[in-house]
Amino acid sequence: MTNTTKAHFIINNNFQKREEKYFDILTNTILLDICQKITGEQEYSVEFIDEVNKGRLAILMFDGHITYISFSETEIKGRNASIQSFPTALVKYQLEENTNKNICFYFLPSIGNFETDYFIFIYRLMKTSGTIFLNEKEYLEATILPFTTVENIIFARNKGQRRNNNSTYLTKSTDNTIQVYGKTYGANKYETTLLCLALSKITPLPIELYQIGEGGLTQLPKTAIIAIESTKKIQIYTSNRTLEKVEFEENNSLRSGRYIYNLLEKLGDKKCAFCECEIPQIIQGAHIWSVSDIKKMKHLTQDEKLECAIDGDNGIWLCQNHHKLLDVHLLKISVDGKIKYQSQVQGNIDYIKQITTVIELSNDILTATFIQYLEKRNRIIQGIEFISL
Ligand SMILES: [Zn+2]
Repeated sequence: MTNTTKAHFIINNNFQKREEKYFDILTNTILLDICQKITGEQEYSVEFIDEVNKGRLAILMFDGHITYISFSETEIKGRNASIQSFPTALVKYQLEENTNKNICFYFLPSIGNFETDYFIFIYRLMKTSGTIFLNEKEYLEATILPFTTVENIIFARNKGQRRNNNSTYLTKSTDNTIQVYGKTYGANKYETTLLCLALSKITPLPIELYQIGEGGLTQLPKTAIIAIESTKKIQIYTSNRTLEKVEFEENNSLRSGRYIYNLLEKLGDKKCAFCECEIPQIIQGAHIWSVSDIKKMKHLTQDEKLECAIDGDNGIWLCQNHHKLLDVHLLKISVDGKIKYQSQVQGNIDYIKQITTVIELSNDILTATFIQYLEKRNRIIQGIEFISL
Protein backbone atom coordinates (compact mmCIF):
# COMPACT_ATOMS: atom_id res chain seq x y z
CA MET A 1 0.00 0.00 0.00
CA THR A 2 1.28 3.43 -0.88
CA ASN A 3 1.16 6.53 1.24
CA THR A 4 -0.90 9.17 -0.45
CA THR A 5 -1.94 12.70 0.29
CA LYS A 6 -5.17 12.18 -1.58
CA ALA A 7 -7.85 10.05 0.07
CA HIS A 8 -7.69 6.55 -1.36
CA PHE A 9 -10.19 3.78 -0.60
CA ILE A 10 -9.27 0.12 -0.77
CA ILE A 11 -12.39 -2.03 -0.85
CA ASN A 12 -12.76 -5.75 -0.74
CA ASN A 13 -14.33 -6.85 -4.03
CA ASN A 14 -16.00 -9.74 -2.27
CA PHE A 15 -17.90 -7.42 0.00
CA GLN A 16 -19.22 -5.34 -2.87
CA LYS A 17 -20.11 -8.34 -5.04
CA ARG A 18 -21.59 -10.55 -2.37
CA GLU A 19 -24.55 -8.30 -1.79
CA GLU A 20 -25.09 -6.60 -5.12
CA LYS A 21 -28.31 -8.52 -5.43
CA TYR A 22 -29.73 -6.03 -2.90
CA PHE A 23 -28.18 -2.83 -4.18
CA ASP A 24 -24.84 -1.31 -4.88
CA ILE A 25 -23.53 -1.19 -1.33
CA LEU A 26 -20.86 1.43 -1.28
CA THR A 27 -22.33 4.05 -3.59
CA ASN A 28 -20.45 7.21 -4.47
CA THR A 29 -22.69 9.13 -2.09
CA ILE A 30 -21.69 6.85 0.77
CA LEU A 31 -17.99 6.93 -0.11
CA LEU A 32 -18.08 10.72 -0.35
CA ASP A 33 -19.82 10.93 3.03
CA ILE A 34 -17.22 8.67 4.65
CA CYS A 35 -14.36 10.55 3.00
CA GLN A 36 -15.65 13.90 4.24
CA LYS A 37 -16.31 12.62 7.74
CA ILE A 38 -12.82 11.17 8.10
CA THR A 39 -10.61 13.54 6.10
CA GLY A 40 -12.69 16.67 5.59
CA GLU A 41 -11.86 16.33 1.87
CA GLN A 42 -14.19 15.63 -1.04
CA GLU A 43 -11.79 14.06 -3.49
CA TYR A 44 -10.98 10.40 -3.35
CA SER A 45 -9.97 7.45 -5.47
CA VAL A 46 -11.13 3.86 -5.15
CA GLU A 47 -9.28 0.60 -5.63
CA PHE A 48 -10.99 -2.79 -5.50
CA ILE A 49 -8.96 -5.73 -4.32
CA ASP A 50 -9.68 -9.44 -4.24
CA GLU A 51 -9.22 -10.81 -0.80
CA VAL A 52 -10.16 -14.31 0.17
CA ASN A 53 -10.84 -13.33 3.73
CA LYS A 54 -14.40 -12.11 3.94
CA GLY A 55 -15.30 -9.06 5.94
CA ARG A 56 -17.29 -5.94 5.40
CA LEU A 57 -14.26 -3.79 5.40
CA ALA A 58 -12.96 -0.78 3.55
CA ILE A 59 -9.64 0.91 4.18
CA LEU A 60 -9.07 4.62 3.69
CA MET A 61 -5.51 5.87 3.26
CA PHE A 62 -4.95 9.56 3.75
CA ASP A 63 -1.83 11.53 4.53
CA GLY A 64 0.04 8.61 6.03
CA HIS A 65 -2.95 7.70 8.13
CA ILE A 66 -4.88 4.45 7.75
CA THR A 67 -8.54 4.09 8.71
CA TYR A 68 -10.33 0.76 8.87
CA ILE A 69 -14.06 1.10 8.24
CA SER A 70 -16.49 -1.66 9.11
CA PHE A 71 -20.13 -1.53 8.03
CA SER A 72 -23.50 -2.59 9.37
CA GLU A 73 -25.35 -5.35 7.56
CA THR A 74 -27.83 -4.32 4.89
CA GLU A 75 -30.31 -6.86 6.17
CA ILE A 76 -30.53 -7.67 9.87
CA LYS A 77 -31.26 -11.38 10.04
CA GLY A 78 -30.83 -12.10 13.71
CA ARG A 79 -28.27 -11.27 16.29
CA ASN A 80 -25.56 -13.70 15.39
CA ALA A 81 -25.33 -13.10 11.68
CA SER A 82 -25.27 -9.38 12.15
CA ILE A 83 -22.22 -8.91 14.33
CA GLN A 84 -19.83 -11.27 12.61
CA SER A 85 -18.00 -8.86 10.39
CA PHE A 86 -17.01 -6.24 12.92
CA PRO A 87 -14.71 -8.41 15.08
CA THR A 88 -13.06 -9.65 11.86
CA ALA A 89 -12.34 -6.02 10.95
CA LEU A 90 -11.21 -5.26 14.49
CA VAL A 91 -8.73 -8.14 14.43
CA LYS A 92 -7.27 -6.88 11.14
CA TYR A 93 -7.04 -3.38 12.56
CA GLN A 94 -5.38 -4.66 15.74
CA LEU A 95 -2.76 -6.42 13.62
CA GLU A 96 -2.12 -3.39 11.37
CA GLU A 97 1.52 -2.40 11.76
CA ASN A 98 1.07 1.28 10.92
CA THR A 99 0.54 2.90 14.33
CA ASN A 100 -1.09 5.91 12.69
CA LYS A 101 -4.43 4.10 12.52
CA ASN A 102 -8.10 4.29 13.44
CA ILE A 103 -11.08 2.00 13.31
CA CYS A 104 -14.55 3.30 12.41
CA PHE A 105 -18.03 1.91 12.02
CA TYR A 106 -20.52 3.14 9.44
CA PHE A 107 -24.23 2.40 9.35
CA LEU A 108 -25.59 1.51 5.92
CA PRO A 109 -29.24 1.88 4.90
CA SER A 110 -30.68 -1.37 6.25
CA ILE A 111 -33.77 -3.49 6.59
CA GLY A 112 -34.54 -4.54 10.16
CA ASN A 113 -34.08 -3.26 13.68
CA PHE A 114 -30.52 -2.67 14.75
CA GLU A 115 -31.30 -1.01 18.02
CA THR A 116 -32.16 -4.08 20.10
CA ASP A 117 -30.64 -4.51 23.60
CA TYR A 118 -28.19 -6.98 22.17
CA PHE A 119 -26.99 -4.70 19.38
CA ILE A 120 -26.65 -1.79 21.78
CA PHE A 121 -24.51 -4.02 24.01
CA ILE A 122 -22.33 -4.85 21.01
CA TYR A 123 -22.08 -1.17 19.94
CA ARG A 124 -20.97 -0.29 23.47
CA LEU A 125 -18.28 -2.98 23.33
CA MET A 126 -17.20 -1.59 19.96
CA LYS A 127 -16.88 1.90 21.40
CA THR A 128 -15.01 0.48 24.39
CA SER A 129 -12.55 -1.11 21.99
CA GLY A 130 -11.87 2.35 20.56
CA THR A 131 -14.16 2.31 17.51
CA ILE A 132 -15.36 5.66 16.15
CA PHE A 133 -18.97 5.66 14.96
CA LEU A 134 -19.20 7.84 11.87
CA ASN A 135 -22.95 8.27 11.48
CA GLU A 136 -24.74 6.90 14.56
CA LYS A 137 -26.88 10.04 15.00
CA GLU A 138 -28.56 9.38 11.66
CA TYR A 139 -29.50 5.83 12.63
CA LEU A 140 -29.76 5.42 16.40
CA GLU A 141 -32.09 7.05 18.89
CA ALA A 142 -29.89 6.32 21.88
CA THR A 143 -26.42 7.69 22.43
CA ILE A 144 -23.94 4.86 22.57
CA LEU A 145 -21.56 5.14 25.51
CA PRO A 146 -18.45 3.03 25.95
CA PHE A 147 -18.18 0.85 29.06
CA THR A 148 -15.87 2.20 31.73
CA THR A 149 -15.72 -0.75 34.14
CA VAL A 150 -15.78 -4.53 33.93
CA GLU A 151 -18.77 -4.56 36.31
CA ASN A 152 -20.70 -2.43 33.80
CA ILE A 153 -20.01 -5.02 31.12
CA ILE A 154 -20.99 -7.96 33.34
CA PHE A 155 -24.23 -6.21 34.29
CA ALA A 156 -25.14 -5.25 30.73
CA ARG A 157 -24.16 -8.68 29.40
CA ASN A 158 -26.63 -10.42 31.64
CA LYS A 159 -29.44 -7.91 31.40
CA GLY A 160 -32.42 -9.50 29.72
CA GLN A 161 -30.48 -12.61 28.80
CA ARG A 162 -32.00 -15.95 29.53
CA ARG A 163 -29.61 -18.46 31.03
CA ASN A 164 -28.45 -21.10 28.58
CA ASN A 165 -28.69 -18.42 25.96
CA ASN A 166 -25.33 -16.94 26.78
CA SER A 167 -22.44 -18.10 24.73
CA THR A 168 -19.82 -16.05 26.52
CA TYR A 169 -19.52 -15.56 30.26
CA LEU A 170 -17.60 -13.00 32.15
CA THR A 171 -16.69 -13.18 35.83
CA LYS A 172 -13.93 -12.53 38.37
CA SER A 173 -11.95 -15.31 39.98
CA THR A 174 -10.96 -15.65 43.64
CA ASP A 175 -7.55 -14.16 42.80
CA ASN A 176 -9.17 -11.04 41.30
CA THR A 177 -8.55 -11.99 37.70
CA ILE A 178 -11.08 -11.18 34.99
CA GLN A 179 -12.16 -14.44 33.40
CA VAL A 180 -13.81 -14.77 30.03
CA TYR A 181 -15.36 -18.12 29.15
CA GLY A 182 -15.87 -18.07 25.43
CA LYS A 183 -17.09 -20.56 22.88
CA THR A 184 -14.93 -21.02 19.83
CA TYR A 185 -17.37 -21.90 17.07
CA GLY A 186 -19.88 -20.08 14.88
CA ALA A 187 -20.83 -16.51 15.69
CA ASN A 188 -19.81 -16.98 19.33
CA LYS A 189 -16.15 -16.75 18.44
CA TYR A 190 -16.66 -13.20 17.16
CA GLU A 191 -18.36 -12.13 20.35
CA THR A 192 -15.56 -13.69 22.44
CA THR A 193 -12.93 -11.82 20.42
CA LEU A 194 -14.70 -8.46 20.68
CA LEU A 195 -15.26 -8.89 24.41
CA CYS A 196 -11.58 -9.63 25.04
CA LEU A 197 -10.32 -6.70 22.98
CA ALA A 198 -12.79 -4.32 24.69
CA LEU A 199 -11.87 -5.57 28.19
CA SER A 200 -8.18 -5.06 27.52
CA LYS A 201 -8.88 -1.33 27.07
CA ILE A 202 -10.55 -0.70 30.43
CA THR A 203 -9.10 -2.89 33.14
CA PRO A 204 -5.69 -2.90 34.80
CA LEU A 205 -6.43 -6.41 36.14
CA PRO A 206 -5.05 -9.52 34.47
CA ILE A 207 -7.48 -11.23 32.08
CA GLU A 208 -7.82 -14.93 31.38
CA LEU A 209 -9.62 -16.26 28.34
CA TYR A 210 -10.85 -19.84 28.61
CA GLN A 211 -11.65 -21.18 25.18
CA ILE A 212 -14.57 -23.56 25.52
CA GLY A 213 -14.38 -25.75 22.45
CA GLU A 214 -17.06 -27.94 21.00
CA GLY A 215 -16.79 -30.57 18.32
CA GLY A 216 -13.51 -30.24 16.50
CA LEU A 217 -13.06 -26.53 17.19
CA THR A 218 -11.10 -25.95 20.35
CA GLN A 219 -9.55 -22.60 19.51
CA LEU A 220 -10.47 -19.23 18.10
CA PRO A 221 -9.21 -18.42 14.59
CA LYS A 222 -5.46 -17.92 14.53
CA THR A 223 -5.65 -14.21 13.64
CA ALA A 224 -8.05 -13.60 16.55
CA ILE A 225 -5.62 -15.30 18.94
CA ILE A 226 -2.71 -13.21 17.64
CA ALA A 227 -4.78 -10.03 18.02
CA ILE A 228 -5.81 -10.95 21.58
CA GLU A 229 -2.23 -11.83 22.50
CA SER A 230 -1.00 -8.55 21.03
CA THR A 231 -2.79 -6.70 23.85
CA LYS A 232 -0.24 -8.34 26.19
CA LYS A 233 -2.89 -8.41 28.91
CA ILE A 234 -4.74 -11.62 28.19
CA GLN A 235 -3.65 -15.14 29.04
CA ILE A 236 -5.36 -17.69 26.79
CA TYR A 237 -6.28 -21.18 27.96
CA THR A 238 -7.72 -23.99 25.93
CA SER A 239 -10.19 -26.37 27.46
CA ASN A 240 -10.33 -29.65 25.61
CA ARG A 241 -10.83 -33.28 26.58
CA THR A 242 -7.12 -34.16 26.67
CA LEU A 243 -6.20 -31.25 28.95
CA GLU A 244 -9.26 -31.81 31.11
CA LYS A 245 -8.24 -35.44 31.60
CA VAL A 246 -4.73 -34.49 32.65
CA GLU A 247 -6.12 -31.90 35.07
CA PHE A 248 -8.62 -34.42 36.41
CA GLU A 249 -6.02 -37.13 36.94
CA GLU A 250 -3.56 -34.83 38.68
CA ASN A 251 -5.77 -32.75 40.96
CA ASN A 252 -8.54 -33.42 43.40
CA SER A 253 -9.94 -29.91 43.25
CA LEU A 254 -10.25 -29.72 39.44
CA ARG A 255 -9.69 -26.16 38.22
CA SER A 256 -11.36 -26.92 34.94
CA GLY A 257 -12.53 -24.04 32.80
CA ARG A 258 -15.27 -26.27 31.50
CA TYR A 259 -16.65 -26.92 35.01
CA ILE A 260 -16.89 -23.20 35.77
CA TYR A 261 -18.42 -22.62 32.32
CA ASN A 262 -21.04 -25.31 33.01
CA LEU A 263 -21.86 -23.78 36.40
CA LEU A 264 -22.21 -20.31 34.86
CA GLU A 265 -24.47 -21.79 32.22
CA LYS A 266 -26.71 -23.55 34.75
CA LEU A 267 -26.65 -21.15 37.70
CA GLY A 268 -25.92 -17.77 36.16
CA ASP A 269 -23.55 -15.27 37.75
CA LYS A 270 -21.63 -16.20 40.88
CA LYS A 271 -23.88 -15.94 43.94
CA CYS A 272 -23.57 -18.01 47.12
CA ALA A 273 -26.47 -20.49 47.30
CA PHE A 274 -26.47 -20.28 51.13
CA CYS A 275 -26.17 -16.52 51.76
CA GLU A 276 -26.65 -14.80 48.36
CA CYS A 277 -23.27 -13.09 48.58
CA GLU A 278 -22.40 -11.84 45.09
CA ILE A 279 -18.77 -10.80 45.48
CA PRO A 280 -17.24 -12.94 42.73
CA GLN A 281 -13.76 -12.89 44.26
CA ILE A 282 -14.96 -14.94 47.25
CA ILE A 283 -17.36 -17.26 45.43
CA GLN A 284 -16.24 -20.73 44.37
CA GLY A 285 -17.70 -23.61 42.41
CA ALA A 286 -18.42 -26.25 45.07
CA HIS A 287 -18.74 -29.87 43.99
CA ILE A 288 -21.68 -31.82 45.37
CA TRP A 289 -20.19 -35.23 44.65
CA SER A 290 -16.53 -34.50 45.33
CA VAL A 291 -13.80 -35.09 42.77
CA SER A 292 -11.86 -37.31 45.19
CA ASP A 293 -14.93 -39.52 45.75
CA ILE A 294 -15.66 -39.69 42.02
CA LYS A 295 -12.11 -40.93 41.45
CA LYS A 296 -12.66 -43.84 43.85
CA MET A 297 -15.48 -45.27 41.73
CA LYS A 298 -14.02 -48.45 40.24
CA HIS A 299 -17.03 -49.25 38.04
CA LEU A 300 -16.82 -45.97 36.12
CA THR A 301 -14.54 -45.39 33.12
CA GLN A 302 -12.15 -42.47 33.19
CA ASP A 303 -14.39 -40.59 30.73
CA GLU A 304 -17.49 -41.15 32.83
CA LYS A 305 -15.67 -39.91 35.92
CA LEU A 306 -14.55 -36.77 34.10
CA GLU A 307 -18.11 -36.22 32.89
CA CYS A 308 -19.36 -36.24 36.51
CA ALA A 309 -16.51 -33.99 37.66
CA ILE A 310 -17.31 -31.22 35.16
CA ASP A 311 -21.11 -31.59 35.14
CA GLY A 312 -22.89 -28.29 35.83
CA ASP A 313 -25.45 -30.27 37.85
CA ASN A 314 -22.68 -31.42 40.17
CA GLY A 315 -22.15 -28.09 41.84
CA ILE A 316 -23.36 -24.85 43.34
CA TRP A 317 -21.81 -21.44 43.91
CA LEU A 318 -20.71 -21.00 47.52
CA CYS A 319 -18.77 -18.27 49.29
CA GLN A 320 -15.53 -19.41 50.89
CA ASN A 321 -17.11 -19.73 54.36
CA HIS A 322 -20.04 -21.79 53.17
CA HIS A 323 -17.86 -23.93 50.92
CA LYS A 324 -15.74 -24.85 53.93
CA LEU A 325 -18.77 -25.42 56.19
CA LEU A 326 -20.28 -27.76 53.60
CA ASP A 327 -17.04 -29.62 52.98
CA VAL A 328 -16.44 -30.34 56.68
CA HIS A 329 -20.11 -31.35 56.98
CA LEU A 330 -21.08 -28.74 59.54
CA LEU A 331 -23.75 -27.96 56.95
CA LYS A 332 -25.52 -30.33 54.59
CA ILE A 333 -28.14 -30.14 51.88
CA SER A 334 -30.88 -32.72 52.27
CA VAL A 335 -32.41 -34.25 49.14
CA ASP A 336 -35.46 -31.99 49.43
CA GLY A 337 -33.13 -28.99 49.10
CA LYS A 338 -33.24 -27.90 52.76
CA ILE A 339 -30.00 -26.60 54.25
CA LYS A 340 -29.30 -28.18 57.64
CA TYR A 341 -26.62 -27.92 60.31
CA GLN A 342 -24.96 -30.66 62.32
CA SER A 343 -26.57 -31.01 65.75
CA GLN A 344 -23.20 -31.25 67.52
CA VAL A 345 -22.09 -27.77 66.36
CA GLN A 346 -23.51 -26.25 69.55
CA GLY A 347 -21.53 -23.11 70.44
CA ASN A 348 -21.28 -21.95 66.82
CA ILE A 349 -24.92 -22.37 65.87
CA ASP A 350 -25.71 -18.69 66.24
CA TYR A 351 -22.91 -17.71 63.90
CA ILE A 352 -23.89 -20.28 61.29
CA LYS A 353 -27.55 -19.23 61.50
CA GLN A 354 -26.57 -15.60 61.16
CA ILE A 355 -24.52 -16.04 57.99
CA THR A 356 -26.80 -18.62 56.38
CA THR A 357 -29.72 -16.57 55.13
CA VAL A 358 -31.09 -19.12 52.68
CA ILE A 359 -32.84 -22.12 54.22
CA GLU A 360 -33.74 -24.03 51.08
CA LEU A 361 -32.18 -24.23 47.60
CA SER A 362 -34.25 -22.92 44.73
CA ASN A 363 -36.02 -25.34 42.41
CA ASP A 364 -33.91 -24.52 39.36
CA ILE A 365 -30.86 -25.87 41.21
CA LEU A 366 -32.66 -29.06 42.31
CA THR A 367 -32.67 -31.02 39.06
CA ALA A 368 -32.97 -34.81 39.10
CA THR A 369 -29.26 -35.17 38.32
CA PHE A 370 -28.33 -32.70 41.08
CA ILE A 371 -30.33 -34.79 43.58
CA GLN A 372 -28.53 -37.95 42.42
CA TYR A 373 -25.19 -36.29 43.19
CA LEU A 374 -26.58 -35.13 46.51
CA GLU A 375 -27.58 -38.68 47.45
CA LYS A 376 -24.02 -39.84 46.72
CA ARG A 377 -22.60 -37.04 48.82
CA ASN A 378 -24.92 -37.60 51.77
CA ARG A 379 -24.15 -41.34 51.94
CA ILE A 380 -20.85 -40.39 53.59
CA ILE A 381 -22.59 -38.61 56.45
CA GLN A 382 -25.31 -41.17 57.12
CA GLY A 383 -25.90 -41.55 60.83
CA ILE A 384 -24.95 -37.97 61.70
CA GLU A 385 -27.86 -35.90 62.96
CA PHE A 386 -28.69 -32.64 61.17
CA ILE A 387 -31.25 -29.98 62.10
CA SER A 388 -33.09 -27.54 59.84
CA LEU A 389 -31.98 -23.92 60.10
ZN1 LIG B 1 -22.20 -17.85 51.58
